[in-house]
Amino acid sequence: MSKPRLWRFNGGLKLDARTAPAATQPIATVPVPARLILPLSQHVGQPADPVVAVGERVLKGQPIARPSGYIAAKVHASSSGTVVEICDHPVPHPSGLSAPCVVIETDGRDEPWDGYEPLPAFGELSATDLRARVRAAGVVGLGGAAFPTAVKLGAGSGLKMLILNGAECEPYICCDEMLLRERPGEVLAGAQVLLQALEIGRCCIAIEDDKPLALQALVDAIRAAGETRIEVVSVPAVYPEGGERQLIKVLTGEEVPARGVPPDIGYLCQNVGTAAAVGRAVLRGEPLISRIVTVTGEGVVQPRNLEVRLGTPVAELVRACGGYTDRAAHLLMGGAMMGFPLSDDSLPVIKGMNCIVVASRDEIRPRTAAMPCIRCGECAEACPAQLLPQQLYWHARAGELDRLDEYHLFDCIECGCCDVACPSQLPLTQYFRYAKTELWARDRDRTRSDLARERFEARRDRIESEQEARRRRLEEKAKAVDQTRGDEHARKAMIDAALERVQARRERNEPDEPR
Ligand code: SF4
Ligand code: SF4
Repeated sequence: MSKPRLWRFNGGLKLDARTAPAATQPIATVPVPARLILPLSQHVGQPADPVVAVGERVLKGQPIARPSGYIAAKVHASSSGTVVEICDHPVPHPSGLSAPCVVIETDGRDEPWDGYEPLPAFGELSATDLRARVRAAGVVGLGGAAFPTAVKLGAGSGLKMLILNGAECEPYICCDEMLLRERPGEVLAGAQVLLQALEIGRCCIAIEDDKPLALQALVDAIRAAGETRIEVVSVPAVYPEGGERQLIKVLTGEEVPARGVPPDIGYLCQNVGTAAAVGRAVLRGEPLISRIVTVTGEGVVQPRNLEVRLGTPVAELVRACGGYTDRAAHLLMGGAMMGFPLSDDSLPVIKGMNCIVVASRDEIRPRTAAMPCIRCGECAEACPAQLLPQQLYWHARAGELDRLDEYHLFDCIECGCCDVACPSQLPLTQYFRYAKTELWARDRDRTRSDLARERFEARRDRIESEQEARRRRLEEKAKAVDQTRGDEHARKAMIDAALERVQARRERNEPDEPR
């Protein structure tokens, strides 16, 4: 493990990790459930289009939905069985809304589909071929963002370094830590494939200094493989260091520009779980059909990490952890800072689900009544994105959307640090989330009205040019008739020629000439 120079990012909080109960148990596997509910939109971008029909038998790993656009991802059956429904079903999302899903009744045989050939000699493959495999396997960012990985791999050329993010800074979440401790070889193999896919020769894997077992396991795996292009860096455990911008700042001292992305300054970040999924997709031909989920909180009997098929209802995960305790009061997806409540445990596991917290009333205390802002500036001190949360709050409250843009609302990573720091208990992050949806809706409406105006103008121009062309044709015909007036022979020849033209067009099944 190397000890390079590290930098600090602005703000942030030292939080209690709360990973101890789950991180003391090995990863267990959840049995295949009777029904799998697979949402068609488990990723950032357009929902996938189903390619199966109700009544069709499917095999484990078979594609059941294809990407419907560039920013989209395939969905695969996570066990064998029969498609029994393609319908709207509640999904884990902050909106609490339903979305289209493919429902599979499993047959208990777990029969595999063998459509993706393993590619152990990936070093001979081009970057394009590797990206195509990653896309075919439906891999998305497993750190929670769920951005299609193949799209991210095509995002930039001339990169300086691949950064693998093992900085799981949010309280409760430890699925990446357990992956690194138990399967460091998978992360290493994924890093090697990613280096080949990006055509670069340097990778840094960042792990927080409060995860010494994960650090050591990975260092040992890299040493055993004799891999010199990949280094492991121990970074201080400060929330939200797992954010791409914050991690890049800590490792390199460089800032990703506002409204920019890491490739703009030569870096590409991937989560360690995503790297392992990329490695499995290429080396073993395995599409993304399962993931590791941390199930924890005082509301489950035995907190632990579980390898789960996508589409498995959350209730099955709780059962695999010994069931609910009598302290169970809240069900959350995600960690203590950025997680959101789930309506019930029938919701399915999706690609971006890294943690389920079954919290007691003591673990999530109700927020006390908000008081007026006293302009103390604590929120700005805590903000890792160097924003002015109190200004954003005032403009969000007043509905001044243009001012929010000026204050870089879209650089807010919704980390919740300002909420924790605010002595007035203002729900700042909630305001920012709401304001972002308002701005998106406004931009969408503007785009729609721009398109409608363009369509109207194009139609008006087309009608005017058709009228002009018709006017010119009539003028020419009138001129020709004038020239033949008094010359009966020429007049008859002109009429005969016109009739012949009409006849020829009809024989060719062409429409008559416009008048
Ligand atoms: S921390 Fe709260 S009270 Fe202080 S300036 Fe920010 S919003 Fe206002
Ligand atoms: S939620 Fe947004 S504004 Fe608040 S601290 Fe995090 S990045 Fe800054």
